Amino acid sequence: MKLWLDGGLQDIESARVSVFDHGLTVGDGIFETVKAVDGRPFALTRHLDRLTRSARGLGLPEPDHDEVRRACAAVLEANPMPLGRLRITYTGGHGPLGSDRGEHGPTLVVALGETLRRPDSTAVITVPWTRNERGALTGLKTTSYAENVVALARAHQHGATEALFGNTVGQLCEGTGSNVFVVLDGEIHTPPVASGCLAGITRALTVEWTGAKESDLPLDVLERADEVFLTSTLRDVQAVHRVDDRELPGTPGPVTAKAMRIFAERSGDDLDP
Ligand code: PLP
Repeated sequence: MKLWLDGGLQDIESARVSVFDHGLTVGDGIFETVKAVDGRPFALTRHLDRLTRSARGLGLPEPDHDEVRRACAAVLEANPMPLGRLRITYTGGHGPLGSDRGEHGPTLVVALGETLRRPDSTAVITVPWTRNERGALTGLKTTSYAENVVALARAHQHGATEALFGNTVGQLCEGTGSNVFVVLDGEIHTPPVASGCLAGITRALTVEWTGAKESDLPLDVLERADEVFLTSTLRDVQAVHRVDDRELPGTPGPVTAKAMRIFAERSGDDLDP
């Protein structure tokens, strides 16, 4: 397997970054996960735009989109696979032991992993920890993901594949790596970006293609929603058949099934050449 580092392809086994890279020592980095179908990245332009927004938010130099595109193309060509996930990682680079950035400039790594199609439905839990809708990192896709790692581990302990967070004012927010949608009286709703969730690319496409509304939703909406589903790069649209102890029989419900169908049909058009 080959990845991209320091301006070119390298073998994964021998590629090295500094042990003082700020991505490692203080989580000073950003990332994107991009789906690749038969060697073609999905919605790469949207991912690059979000990478730039995350870089601005963290005060990192803006990534060179041409270089990242070249890196993605090279990695995809070197590692052919039917369904993959490109992982673009961009960190503050190596620096002194502490939180000040060094003078060395950012580290860019682009790697590819194989991925499996997710099942059509899944179980989720809610967690008692809150997303801070006004934090310095809110809405940025940073490598400071330990909170998500902890919540996801708890989900796995409960036989679920995702954990949902509320925010500090008790509204539904998002999952550890997905956005959440609910169906109420036949209408689809998802929390607004102001709730503290990541502006998911799958979320944006789903809102555009299904007419879902962005609404402030109390966390307990999950106790009465007719249907619940998740969106993410690796899940696409995925129905939820259990939230904590609440079973949702007949999953996927009709509205979710339609959203899944629309997404599958329309997303074929958005593969970058
Ligand atoms: N929310 C979080 C915290 C995420 O990490 C992700 C994706 O990784 C999402 C939502 C979904 O975003 P996207 O659809 O762009 O994959």
